[in-house]
Amino acid sequence: MRTVLMDLQGTLGGDPIGDITDFEFYPNVLKGLKLLQDENYRLVIVTNQSKISKNIITISNYEAKKSELLKEAKENGIDNLEFYCCPHSKSDGCTCRKPNIGLFDEANKIKKIDIEKSYMIGDMGMFDMVFAHNIGLKKILVLTGVGEGSLKEFRHTWQGIETDYIAEDFFEAAIWIKENSSEIG
Ligand SMILES: [Mg+2]
Repeated sequence: MRTVLMDLQGTLGGDPIGDITDFEFYPNVLKGLKLLQDENYRLVIVTNQSKISKNIITISNYEAKKSELLKEAKENGIDNLEFYCCPHSKSDGCTCRKPNIGLFDEANKIKKIDIEKSYMIGDMGMFDMVFAHNIGLKKILVLTGVGEGSLKEFRHTWQGIETDYIAEDFFEAAIWIKENSSEIG
């Protein structure tokens, strides 16, 4: 199934490097999610939450915020938002921490993702764009969160990888996907 995978913090809202507990959606993000849902995209959030491994937040903190966001999404007509989370830190050596592709594999097991017709949207080059590159997804970098820094002082952390599109924010990314996917239905 065609799918839009997306990062959470810095892409859909919140603080790109802070913890999730004070996360709120950025303006128009819910509108963008609805637009993608209406285009029959599966909506898959892939998020690194190393603060769980570091005991800065608990799994319950994460789960509580997730329930809150799912509720808010549902109230805005978004029925099938899926969350996949890596709770580890780098030193745990897991396979699910982006840019590793474990979270993709997990989502792909639930329902097959058509890589050719799918996208990854994120703000951090070294996690999100490398993740997309490792899978073969189309890559959209958003300029929210650490997006601008990813293009400037942190460009070396994902050198050799080119984006398919750079969007001002998530909503603009959603519009671009809609315009670029109309022919492949
Ligand atoms: Mg991010």
